Amino acid sequence: MERTFLAIKPDGVQRGLVGEIIRRFETKGFTLVGLKFLKVSKELAEQHYGVHRERPFFGSLVEFITSSPVVAMVWEGDGVVASARKIIGATNPLTSEPGTIRGDFGINIGRNLIHGSDAPETAQQEIALWFKDEELVNWQPHITPWLH
Ligand code: ADP
Ligand code: MG
Repeated sequence: MERTFLAIKPDGVQRGLVGEIIRRFETKGFTLVGLKFLKVSKELAEQHYGVHRERPFFGSLVEFITSSPVVAMVWEGDGVVASARKIIGATNPLTSEPGTIRGDFGINIGRNLIHGSDAPETAQQEIALWFKDEELVNWQPHITPWLH
């Protein structure tokens, strides 16, 4: 079953949007299989955003993501990687569609509330980077077996 890695960034936590953001994936019908609240180390941030190492915003991105706690999550479901990206919206909240998380709550590209893996392969890498195997729960909701 496909899984994706999502992280509510410091701005989402600071603005009290944790419940609202989690609700969107929960009511969509995806299954939560991992969740933790943590302050991100510089090492973890630099690895997570390693692909952006040469970009001009890399330093401020790492500084921001380590500045205060984040909510790290793993969600499961058919097509969850691409669907979560749709629910999240485009990178720049000024152009994300209304109805998406970034479109509804954000105005700044550096404060766009949530991270979501961009492909199944990167999802697997990010899940392995952020979670130990024993921190993920293998389960299925009983009332909605058709979701799987
Ligand atoms: P996404 O989070 O939508 O996958 P990217 O992978 O392109 O976006 O970038 C990672 C994160 O880096 C973005 O979510 C955003 O917080 C930040 N970022 C991207 N582009 C810029 C930029 N031009 N200026 C500042 N921050 C940026
Ligand atoms: Mg990305």
